[in-house]
Amino acid sequence: KLMPGKNVYQYFSQEMNQRVSERLRLEQDLRSALDRGEFRLFYQPKVDLVSGEMHSMEALIRWAHPESGLVSPVRFIPIAEETGLIIPIGQWVLEEACRQNRAWQDAGFPPLRVAVNLSATQFAQPDIVDSIVAVLEKTGLDPEFLELEITESMLMEDVEDAIRILRELKGLGLSLAIDDFGTGYSSLSYLKRFPVDCIKIDQSFIAELLKNSEDAAITSAIIALAGSLNLNVTAEGVETLEHVDFLRRRGCHEIQGYYFSRPLPPEDFTRLLREGRNL
Ligand code: C2E
Ligand code: CA
Ligand code: CA
Ligand code: CA
Repeated sequence: KLMPGKNVYQYFSQEMNQRVSERLRLEQDLRSALDRGEFRLFYQPKVDLVSGEMHSMEALIRWAHPESGLVSPVRFIPIAEETGLIIPIGQWVLEEACRQNRAWQDAGFPPLRVAVNLSATQFAQPDIVDSIVAVLEKTGLDPEFLELEITESMLMEDVEDAIRILRELKGLGLSLAIDDFGTGYSSLSYLKRFPVDCIKIDQSFIAELLKNSEDAAITSAIIALAGSLNLNVTAEGVETLEHVDFLRRRGCHEIQGYYFSRPLPPEDFTRLLREGRNL
């Protein structure tokens, strides 16, 4: 019979040590990654379900780590949040996304909106509005071509304060989207008070859309809710034609997902723009 003896304990504690030191290394590397210019932005199209055209894209960060290769934001954004590094990283993302979008416009491509993810820490900065104004001025991007993606939980922390900031941001002329909608603890009664343009249905509902009747019901309800509140609705994580058909029948406006395109590095995105591919 196996007994959980000393060796088992040592095994676990070794594994834990390894994890802790791996994390420490990640944190230290993260600190120098900005100076070394190791971050990249990939861009994923959002496509209109009626016209089939691309109207916007989401900027998604990657870390081109010299040893580990491309590191997913799922691995380093939480650490960046905890350490406060998300502030300079988020600032870089905002500036790079606006700069790149302006460059595509200057190259003569039809103007698109670029969506940037804001972290909770960024949103809570007292100078968040000023810093966005500064980036728009510096890059020369017209605010109508910038969209900010914010999660429900960021808005629910201090609702009145959040509404005030959202109003100021809207006042600049940019668009606002609520990301990962349906996963947070938002109260539906607040939704009408938030001056946002769009809600994004979380991909966890889309994944099992055709197998799970509850996910299908929630997705349909969110689309109907968006319609009655006059909000645009984007479904993310759309991977198959069946997803597309379901969403189109329910009146969803826009999709984002592997079905149309994975997030692409700028060079590949430029090729997509040149091809002018539609859904
Ligand atoms: P998110 O904002 O919900 O972004 C959508 C994620 O779904 C992206 O993962 C995207 O690559 C992935 N995705 C898109 N289409 C599909 C699909 O059809 N199927 C599946 N399975 N996945 C799909 P990614 O790029 O790994 O980003 C993960 C999360 O990291 C993002 O989730 C966002 O919360 C965060 N993140 C990414 N970039 C930034 C950033 O610049 N700043 C901040 N604060 N967070 C970021
Ligand atoms: Ca997002
Ligand atoms: Ca999302
Ligand atoms: Ca997500």
